[in-house]
Amino acid sequence: MPEALFPPPSTVWRVALPLPLPRLFDYLPPASQTDGDAAVGHRVRVPFGRRELVGVVAEVGAPEYETDPAALKTALGRIDADPLLHGELFDSLRWLARYTHAPLGEVLATALPGPLRHGEPLPDTHAWAWCLTEAGLTGREGLRAGRPRRLADLLQDGPQDEDRLDEALDDWRSAARALAKRGLAERIAVPASARAPAPRPGPALNEEQQDAVDTVLAADGFVPFLLDGVTGSGKTEVYLHAIADCLARGKQALVLVPEIGLTPQTLARFRARLGVPIHALHSGLSDGERARTWAAFARGEARVAVGTRSAVFLPLLQPGLIVIDEEHDGSFKQQDGIRYHARDFALVRAKALNIPILLGSATPSLESLRNVQAGRYGHLRLQRRAGQAQAPQVRVVDVRKRPIEAGLSPELVDAIAQALHAGGQVLVFKNRRGYAPVLLCHDCGWTAHCPRCSTPLKGTPMTVHGGGRRLQCHHCGTRRPAPNACPDCGGLALQSQGAGTERIEESLSARFPDYPVRRIDRGTTQRRDALEQHLAEFGTAPGILVGTQMLAKGHDLPNLTLVAVVGIDEGLFSADFRAPEKLAQLLIQVAGRAGRADKLGQVLLQTHHPEHPLLHTLLTGGYAAFAETELAQREAADFPPFAHMALLRAEAQEVDVANAFLAKARREIDAFADPRRRPAPGQRPALEINGPLPAPMPRRAGYQRAQLILTALERRHLHAALDAALPAIYACPEARKVRWSLDVDPIDLY
Ligand code: ADP
Ligand code: ZN
Ligand code: ZN
Repeated sequence: MPEALFPPPSTVWRVALPLPLPRLFDYLPPASQTDGDAAVGHRVRVPFGRRELVGVVAEVGAPEYETDPAALKTALGRIDADPLLHGELFDSLRWLARYTHAPLGEVLATALPGPLRHGEPLPDTHAWAWCLTEAGLTGREGLRAGRPRRLADLLQDGPQDEDRLDEALDDWRSAARALAKRGLAERIAVPASARAPAPRPGPALNEEQQDAVDTVLAADGFVPFLLDGVTGSGKTEVYLHAIADCLARGKQALVLVPEIGLTPQTLARFRARLGVPIHALHSGLSDGERARTWAAFARGEARVAVGTRSAVFLPLLQPGLIVIDEEHDGSFKQQDGIRYHARDFALVRAKALNIPILLGSATPSLESLRNVQAGRYGHLRLQRRAGQAQAPQVRVVDVRKRPIEAGLSPELVDAIAQALHAGGQVLVFKNRRGYAPVLLCHDCGWTAHCPRCSTPLKGTPMTVHGGGRRLQCHHCGTRRPAPNACPDCGGLALQSQGAGTERIEESLSARFPDYPVRRIDRGTTQRRDALEQHLAEFGTAPGILVGTQMLAKGHDLPNLTLVAVVGIDEGLFSADFRAPEKLAQLLIQVAGRAGRADKLGQVLLQTHHPEHPLLHTLLTGGYAAFAETELAQREAADFPPFAHMALLRAEAQEVDVANAFLAKARREIDAFADPRRRPAPGQRPALEINGPLPAPMPRRAGYQRAQLILTALERRHLHAALDAALPAIYACPEARKVRWSLDVDPIDLY
């Protein structure tokens, strides 16, 4: 027995590695004194096959019973003098790995900024500024007009912090790189303190706001609050007061916002009001910048972070408060890799940190409203708009049997004309980009379909773009020129059916040639600050904005007097049980754009279904009434938040391969769940399994997609089944032939 010849080592490091395997990996500590001493949370380098990987020590202890000590490899050494991950953050991340049923190593890789994940040292955290070099000072005058010149002008009187530049000039980073390349400007480190301007006071709070602030400040330890307030009711003011209090007590605050809400204006407002440096974390940052922010929090130097989804992974050494703005927003859920929900993870962290957490929205998620109903969250309401603004008037425009041109009824066109002539601005909202959703042959009925995607009954139509010249699939991105003649019958009667934002823009430009018409959708607005730039250029003079849901948020439009919503009808009849919630949220958010300042706003909803219960409830009772009805329906149907779901999806070139994997997974889950699956007569099973079924979109980008949906009335039954079945699912040979993923609490079954 070889084991007997080698006394087993007394300790091993159990390391979490970024690999799709749900286990830790044992290594012997190296012999060296300094490198050989690692505790839980230390990053370490280890050999793995022929590679070298960076992992995190998750446990230190005796080797596992089955481990053959002779087979153990020796780690190469630890990376940092002190553990990088420890305390609450590490515990919460372990919780997240258990909850998402994902390997801890992959969860840690998701949580850490790139450079830290790859083993680079914790970076310096001084602030950075830019200044002109000698050559820049003398050469500035010679620069042509443009962004680099504008940046050089900003720097002529001395160095400027990067924070300050963020506010002063859009996309200054590319200008800075251009200047640096020519030796005209350079980046210098400046002390991190001594930076922020003195805080500026905001408006005096109204009574509702003051009550909300008082309630949050009175919270002792972990208390979740839903701050339920209509658009413009002053929620951000409530956040700012609660954060200011937190800072006064020497604590830190973490603010999460949806990607589209993290505008330079938002950051400037936080900076001006709080008087401390605000660390922004969003997709526009480089990996190095993310790592620096992470380090500033890991060292306890930073006070306030305002960031998108991944900011939820920042270490908080002096935690005081977490704020989630627009908590209902779908962008808080990561849709690939580790499928975490930043709001839900923030709640877990707030609980572990024993601090209050404030979830704000004008259209709260049904999950959060359910938690209010059940008494788990405090409910703070702001029912009036702050300051002068009045709520808009909403009217349904029945377009049955009305002539519709490019998606617009004559009533809508008249209302637009009136609003423009009265000096107002108009927003036309259409949640479909492109020129038209379908290209149809009028002679034979042929329509253009994506060759790589399909839904159960038919192919997915390709969207017409470029005024009719191009076709594009919005599911997989496939593009092709539009044919000149019908590929089936050779006829020339090809027609664009329906209207997307492009066509509406075209038609409105033709009808209202004296007014600017600007389109805002993913086609025109790809850069992060592009939305703000569009709106700034649009200004406050009369004109028309046409756009998709990108326009539901963003900068205030004080002169917006009419919001026209067209083409919501598809959303009224979707198979997705979350579709009504999403549609109601979108309608309320878009409507909330009207009449923000001292002007009364008007909202027109153009529909073929004026009697639809969703519209009726929303218009007569507002979002609260809608949510109450919808929650009752979800409860009756055992849908979330009254049940808990997980989605196991597989993709493969051939559908049989995907189904074979899911069938195997189902057998594993059944084997565990079997005794509980025979419920008493009239009772529901603890765990229901549906599938393997084709995914709602069974073919996407050339892959066949199938899925298994697990539903349980109690969360623990879902997790127990997954815990029991997943080791075998990971290990089965069928798994190697597919791309599979598990999504716990999926928000999108598509
Ligand atoms: P929300 O976050 O709910 O959309 P904001 O906090 O952004 O609302 O407030 C909307 C507008 O009303 C902002 O311009 C803000 O400065 C203003 N405002 C907020 N609270 C007050 C108040 N108590 N008095 C006057 N103006 C206010
Ligand atoms: Zn044809
Ligand atoms: Zn496609």
